[in-house]
Amino acid sequence: MDVLPQWPDWPTSRSLSISYSSAGMFDRCERSWINRYGFPQVGGIIPFAYGAQGKLLPYQALVGTLTDNVIELAIRRRLSGKEWPSGDQMMRGVSFLLQEYITFSHSWRDQIADFGRAEDKYYHEIRLRPVDRIFFNEPFSKDELNGFTASAAACLRKWLDAEFPDELDAIDLEGWWLSKPGMNSAPAWYWLAGHPAYASFDLIVKAKDETIIYDWKTGKVRLADVLTQLHAYAAFAAAYWGDPLDQIRLVPVWLGEESLPVTLYRANESRIKELQQEWTHRIAVLRERIERIRQDRRLWMELFPATTDAWKCKGCQFRACPTYQKVQSLSVTPPPDSEPDWSMYND
Ligand code: SF4
Repeated sequence: MDVLPQWPDWPTSRSLSISYSSAGMFDRCERSWINRYGFPQVGGIIPFAYGAQGKLLPYQALVGTLTDNVIELAIRRRLSGKEWPSGDQMMRGVSFLLQEYITFSHSWRDQIADFGRAEDKYYHEIRLRPVDRIFFNEPFSKDELNGFTASAAACLRKWLDAEFPDELDAIDLEGWWLSKPGMNSAPAWYWLAGHPAYASFDLIVKAKDETIIYDWKTGKVRLADVLTQLHAYAAFAAAYWGDPLDQIRLVPVWLGEESLPVTLYRANESRIKELQQEWTHRIAVLRERIERIRQDRRLWMELFPATTDAWKCKGCQFRACPTYQKVQSLSVTPPPDSEPDWSMYND
C-alpha cells in the first residue's frame, strides 16, 4: 500500500481532550493529571519543571514500550508492502531501540538543562520519549539493561510463536489500522461531548463483517482494566466507522510472564455506554475546574489535589511535586494490586 490510512486532522492542542490514559492518570492522582495534561490549558500557571517531567517515560514502562515499538515497526514495514522482518531482526531491533532511547534521553536532558526546552525525536514513525531515570541522573546498570532487552525479546518471541504475522496476513492490508498512521499524521480520535476522545490502540483489523481490536500486554495487568481499555477503543470504532457492536471483537494478547490464552471478547454495549458517561462527566468536571483556574490561577493545586496514597508518589515521575519530596523518607508498603498498567504511560 503506497499511502497509509489517515485520520482527519485533530483539533488544536489547546482543546480539552480525553483518552483511556488521561482518564487513568486522573484516577491515579488528580495533581498528576494537571501536571501532565494541563499545560495546553493553563500552561503559564504550571511550573516548567512539571511540563518537562510530564514528557518522561517511567522506566517501568520501558519493556512494554520496546515491545510495542518493535511490533509496530514490523507492522509498518508490512504495510509498506515488504515482507515481515525475521525473528532475528526483531530481536536486534530491541537492542537498537533501547540504545536510541538512552541516547535520546541523555540529549533531551542536556537540552532541557542548557536551553530550558528540548525537541521531540522520531525514529522513523515512533516517537521516542526521554526515560525518567536517565533524566534524573540515575543510570541503569548493565544487568538492568540486559534485563530490559531479555524481557522485551521474550515478549516478542511469544508474539511470533503465536503466529501473528500469518494471522494478520489473512486480512487484506487495506483493513489494518494503526492509531497513528505516520510521523506527522493525526492520532485516532472522535468527538465525545464536544471534545476529542483519543484512541491509542495497538492495531485494529477490519475484516469482512468483523472488526478486531488487538492490544499487546507485556506486564501484570488486571483483565478488567484491559477490557475497559479495549471498550474505549470499541467506542472509537463504533463512532468513527459506525461499526455495529456485535461485530467488534476485543483481543488482549498476553506477552508477559503471566500469560493468558488469546481470547476474543465481544464488545459490550452497556459497558461502552457506562464508560462514555464516565468520560463525559469527567470532561465536564475538567472543563469547570480549568475555567476556574483561568479566572484565579492560585487555585490550580487546590482544584487538582495530590493523592493521599504515598505509594503512588514514591515512584512518580513528577519529582518536582512537593508531595514526592515529602514521601521519600517514609517507609511505605505497597498495597495489594498496586502495579499500574504501565502501558498507559506509553502514549
Ligand atoms: S508525587 Fe504524588 S501527588 Fe505529586 S503528582 Fe506524583 S502521585 Fe501525584
